[in-house]
Amino acid sequence: MAYAYDDQNIFAKILRGEIPNDTVFESDHALAFRDISPAAPTHVLVIPKGPYVSMDHFTQEASEAEIVGFMRAIGEVCRLEGVSEDGFRAISNAGRNGVQEVPHLHVHIIGGRPLGRMLAKTE
Ligand code: AMP
Repeated sequence: MAYAYDDQNIFAKILRGEIPNDTVFESDHALAFRDISPAAPTHVLVIPKGPYVSMDHFTQEASEAEIVGFMRAIGEVCRLEGVSEDGFRAISNAGRNGVQEVPHLHVHIIGGRPLGRMLAKTE
């Protein structure tokens, strides 16, 4: 599938500095900031700096340096937030079935309390 990136999405505006954010970590290829509506004591969004819609788009078109930089940023955030030992959940919603609200790739790092099972099973 071909992806079209909408540069008016809210995370693109954050990357351009048009909207403020509560930054946790920044590197050449990634920015991490606190979710505006946290689901747990730790809720940080990690985004690549490049224009990628989803994990599928990113892994098809990003350079190896971008992919490494993004994945390393996720680890950095877990350590900075102190969730590595007790555990956390990393979630990346994509598309309609994934109920993705913002069409710029992001991984939610959620922790700081027991999170329960990931999804209710349908059967
Ligand atoms: P998703 O449903 O996976 O696309 O999640 C989008 C997330 O972005 C939600 O958890 C929102 O609370 C969060 N969000 C939306 N706008 C902002 C913002 N300006 N700053 C930080 N987080 C935001």
